[in-house]
Amino acid sequence: MQNLKKRIRNVPDFPKKGIQFKDITTLLSDPASYQRAIDLMAHRHFDKGIDAVVGVEARGFIMGAAMAYKLGTGVLLVRKKGKLPHKTVSVSYALEYGKDQLEIHEDSITPGMRIIVADDVLATGGTMAAVVEMLTSLGARIVECCFLAELTSLDGRSKLKGQKVFSLLKFDD
Ligand code: AMP
Repeated sequence: MQNLKKRIRNVPDFPKKGIQFKDITTLLSDPASYQRAIDLMAHRHFDKGIDAVVGVEARGFIMGAAMAYKLGTGVLLVRKKGKLPHKTVSVSYALEYGKDQLEIHEDSITPGMRIIVADDVLATGGTMAAVVEMLTSLGARIVECCFLAELTSLDGRSKLKGQKVFSLLKFDD
């Protein structure tokens, strides 16, 4: 796991001062590391009756699509407002300044579907909490919120109470 952690580049003060940005492009561009990370994230769910993996725009697509391929499920897209062409449901969530909105196609979830939600980084947890709220409102059963990396000092898990949360790599700075 240490080897995978080392593949993530820390960029201090991006996009603004005080943020330690975890740049996953350096892990993604290394074939063995990307494959290993996806294998480790997906393999715990083999034979668990997963119906679909949800990927959260944008880097969650890179995790979610590969996990879905591995598990032999479809991949469902949670996108920023205005990107999905058909009828959507949406959820608003707070950003540091202002609000944003995420959407999913209403007909992509049938009640009772067993879902894994994938994203790259768990930071404050605000994004995933909003996605959980939206998927639950459509009747999805969320089996796990699954992240490549977690910034433990930001305690995103506290916003995801009641959910199973897994992160492959943990960073305390
Ligand atoms: P949050 O809602 O705070 O958990 O973070 C939402 C999204 O912002 C995550 O899915 C990441 O893609 C991105 N993000 C937040 N903080 C960082 C960080 N320090 N490094 C890399 N990505 C981040």
